[in-house]
Amino acid sequence: MTSRHYHYDKEYSHQYYLDHRQYYLDDAKERYESRRSGDTKNRVESLKKWREDNPGKTLWQRCTQKRKSDVFSHYCLEGIIKCAHCGITDIDVLCLDHVNDNGANERKLAGLGSCFYQWIKRNNYPVGYQVLCANCNLKKQIKKNG
Ligand SMILES: [Zn+2]
Repeated sequence: MTSRHYHYDKEYSHQYYLDHRQYYLDDAKERYESRRSGDTKNRVESLKKWREDNPGKTLWQRCTQKRKSDVFSHYCLEGIIKCAHCGITDIDVLCLDHVNDNGANERKLAGLGSCFYQWIKRNNYPVGYQVLCANCNLKKQIKKNG
């Protein structure tokens, strides 16, 4: 391994650490607040229910799902999570789409996946996003390119 390569890896994992550090801090804060409001039992119950509804999924995925649904409900009419075009409600196939297609840069800045949703939250839900399903997103690209 060259020293340059090593340097790159180190930088990368440091960035990874920074991204996820905030992630864990936020989660700890949420836990603290729910404990303070006496809502621990509900949290335990909802976790139990979630495990039954989502066999085989990790807690990390649950965290991501929660973040995703928080952000999506903000961008959906009346907080009902669904595709803005076809109305499908399956959150697994939904994603956040930049209406004017200049989301790529912001996504690069914010990192991918749950870090992106976290970035959205931290920036007080910037305007210009909509929730689309994978199909409608793909169709939008095809229309744009064709
Ligand atoms: Zn759709």
